[in-house]
Amino acid sequence: MTRRGLLPLVVMVPALAAAPPRRELDTPVRRAAYLREMLDALCTRIGPRPSGSKGFDAGIAIVERELRRALPIVVRDSLKFRRWTVTGKPYFIVGDRALETYVADNSPETPGREVSGTLRKGRQYEVVDTAGRVVAGAGISEFGRAIVTMHSGADDAALFNIGRQDVEILERAIREKTPVRAHAKVKWFDNVESSSVAGTLPGDSKEEILIVAHADTKYNTPGANDNTASLITMLMLAHAIPAAKPARTVSFLATTGEELTFFGAKHYAGTRRAAGTIGDIKYCVNLDSLTYGPNLQINTTSAGLAKVILDIHRDLRIETEPKVFERDDTMDSAPFLASGARTVHLNSRGDDARTLPLWHRPEDRAETIKPEFVESSFRVLLELITRLQTAAVDQ
Ligand SMILES: [Zn+2]
Repeated sequence: MTRRGLLPLVVMVPALAAAPPRRELDTPVRRAAYLREMLDALCTRIGPRPSGSKGFDAGIAIVERELRRALPIVVRDSLKFRRWTVTGKPYFIVGDRALETYVADNSPETPGREVSGTLRKGRQYEVVDTAGRVVAGAGISEFGRAIVTMHSGADDAALFNIGRQDVEILERAIREKTPVRAHAKVKWFDNVESSSVAGTLPGDSKEEILIVAHADTKYNTPGANDNTASLITMLMLAHAIPAAKPARTVSFLATTGEELTFFGAKHYAGTRRAAGTIGDIKYCVNLDSLTYGPNLQINTTSAGLAKVILDIHRDLRIETEPKVFERDDTMDSAPFLASGARTVHLNSRGDDARTLPLWHRPEDRAETIKPEFVESSFRVLLELITRLQTAAVDQ
């Protein structure tokens, strides 16, 4: 290669790094291709992305890159937390049968090599040792096979999550006083850093529409439905909102820590409070698990916001059956509801008995995502952002 041949490279590299091109996602075909590409990158190639893990960091870097492609202002909202991990292979053995189990997030470990005892049923199943102490708990999944839940912190016994298919074995073990052995070792890491990422398109007005989707998963799943496909839908919206200056500011927030104690959204709200800008957020739309079924579940205490979303379905002739629930309490939208925004938490849970058992399971993989559910949500949400530019939702 000649010296002259090298020259353009020197010029091009910083230019590319400074301004990655925006994606053209202006047709359903292009959006479906983008969905596949991003599901492949996040779920298939990276896999589980619990907050504080290398997987999460790799995933949020992709999200940040995409937001930078789409929007003029992108910031990280970094925090530190005490991270819990399970080490080795936990087990929960009834007689000589090892049940499928996941240790609950933030669970204490079992003391010594293992704990043993017999089962009884209180608020949940409990392993009681010969001294009458509860040495482990067993929680049963509501939907099917074992999932990862969260330890309440109310006691110091390890919590094992068991699937519904094994309830019969537990019941028989109570009747027959079958010995049970259980083992879980965990490790805590102090001051682990994790980040949410926020991208903003400033409008004529500081009044702001905030779209939120969590970017973390439980530790046992690639989380395609919960919440990667919804996160990708949010990225599509960031790419699609008109380059023309909107009337109201539009922001997109990919959060960390939703699957733990919603700590990313809470931290971001704290950052905005400290900056004196939290009052600018007039509307907050939280996207979580939009793809379990075709029908959006609209969880909101704002009758006006629910009406806007229902009207959009009618006007765009979206052939699904949205349902409204008058609640919006514990999700990533909660800190913004508390600060005075009108909020809605959108999901699709409960609409499809065949896919709901994917929740917090390793089977929640990229192949299970139906592109048509993403497309209908995208259309509704793009129109929602447009209508909220001028809407006066006063109830
Ligand atoms: Zn979720």
